[in-house]
Amino acid sequence: MALRIIETSDPAETEALGAELAAILTDGDVVLVQGELGSGKTTLVRGAARALGVTGPVTSPTFSIGHRYPAANVTVSHLDLYRLEGLEHEDPALLADYLGPGRIAFVEWPQDGAGELARARLRVTLAHRGADRRRIEVGGEPERDGLGEPERGGQGEGR
Ligand code: ADP
Ligand code: MG
Repeated sequence: MALRIIETSDPAETEALGAELAAILTDGDVVLVQGELGSGKTTLVRGAARALGVTGPVTSPTFSIGHRYPAANVTVSHLDLYRLEGLEHEDPALLADYLGPGRIAFVEWPQDGAGELARARLRVTLAHRGADRRRIEVGGEPERDGLGEPERGGQGEGR
């Protein structure tokens, strides 16, 4: 998928975009969700989780780094790494329960995106655009499967 930029004008539209993105995700995928406080990260994840079959409330993780919701065919993981300084000082096992086979993971505040997060399927970036408007950029990770715009000079990569 090429880089896509969408503007939404209410939370329902942002949820609908989350649902649309969910449709292309498969077992083991990771989606990084970036943007300032209140930009709609959790709202987008809620829409995606619903579309994947999560029926209960989808709320921001507060007392742990994440939630895991059983869904139709996978577990939906929802992480919020806001309180971590960066992943380089963390035990790699910290994320192990949330990522990998049988899971589709959404990660708010992915920090440096190092380690397992570097292999994310999609990166979504939200920004405030006044009142209820949000600008939402959806990009793939070129190193994984050629989604999105090449960013790194492309040396040695075929065109
Ligand atoms: P974050 O996880 O980025 O901190 P949340 O999704 O928790 O953000 O909160 C976003 C807030 O902004 C919610 O109160 C939501 O109702 C409101 N909101 C208003 N307009 C939008 C929009 N277009 N998209 C998403 N959220 C919106
Ligand atoms: Mg949030």
